[in-house]
Amino acid sequence: MDLQILRTVPSMRQFRSTLPGPVSLIPTMGMLHSGHMSLVKLAAHQTSSIIVSIYANPAQLRTSEDHTAYPSTLEEDVALLQDLGQELLNEGLGRLCGIFVPTNEAMYPYPQYTDIANGVGCFVTIAPLAALLEGADQPTHFIGVATVCLKLFNVVQPHKAYFGEKDYQQALLIRRLVDDLLLDIDVVVGDTIREEDGLPISSRNVYLGKRRRRVAVVLHRALSAAEDLYRKGTSTKQDLISASVSVAEEEQRLQENMKICDRVRFEVVYFQIFHHETMKELEKVDPVIGAVLSGAIRMMPLESIAVGEPLGWREDTDVIRLIDNVRLGPIGHQY
Ligand code: AMP
Repeated sequence: MDLQILRTVPSMRQFRSTLPGPVSLIPTMGMLHSGHMSLVKLAAHQTSSIIVSIYANPAQLRTSEDHTAYPSTLEEDVALLQDLGQELLNEGLGRLCGIFVPTNEAMYPYPQYTDIANGVGCFVTIAPLAALLEGADQPTHFIGVATVCLKLFNVVQPHKAYFGEKDYQQALLIRRLVDDLLLDIDVVVGDTIREEDGLPISSRNVYLGKRRRRVAVVLHRALSAAEDLYRKGTSTKQDLISASVSVAEEEQRLQENMKICDRVRFEVVYFQIFHHETMKELEKVDPVIGAVLSGAIRMMPLESIAVGEPLGWREDTDVIRLIDNVRLGPIGHQY
């Protein structure tokens, strides 16, 4: 099938002008997996022409603790999209038309005047949402995300843009960006696609060797423990968060008692219950409104590696930050 790869802003704009509407955009940073594919499929059910963008935005990665070198897997990504595009075509759904893979020069025309950390350049800020949770110790991260999404929206001019609920805060921020800056775009949020044991599928998972991967599911288990408790009638923040913390601490104790060649260390960054739109921390979940429980952990580098041990990319020598969330109660998709 004919899948165009566009690398410049003028070529993307020209190509966009030829597409039958409605047009959708799925922004990604590459290293595509079934989570991304689920968003493309969702778009194919709702729109006629689909564009996927692949751009590892340096402005949002620069301060991320584990993503200093986001590897390019463009060949594999294109092959995956080709296959999916053919599948969608066979099913008579929307057509996957193009992949926008811009260069840094295309996305940042004034690099010499671009320094988010020092407030130099042209950026989108969304206060206070961008400074909470994932933004708390990476203060420029969401400024980078919002800015690059606005740029992508301006180039591709989609009717609909698709984001994953796995990155709840990001999806919420993009919705705010679109509403507040009066962009005529419908933001659609897709469900989190998970591995069999519950770990959200993520580009970051390839950095986890077998040992860290096995323990990483603790985040999902911790959130699920609170979710179960909520379903049984508990609604206070203190009890729900305690349920998550207990699961994490129990796993930490278990790991601490192992030999260093067997154990995995991880740190809890946060567990937090918040209002699904304002992100205000809640003391108690109102069952009529519901809430979101988010968590983040840092998987620490392995301390000792056995000969022949199956390792992840960069050999498990780096800190990998994992995030996940669950809905408590009746939040619909249109938050
Ligand atoms: P990324 O390439 O990591 O920036 O992700 C691109 C988009 O895919 C974002 O909107 C993510 O929220 C979404 N996404 C990533 N992983 C998943 C997943 N497991 N399930 C659903 N959506 C996902």
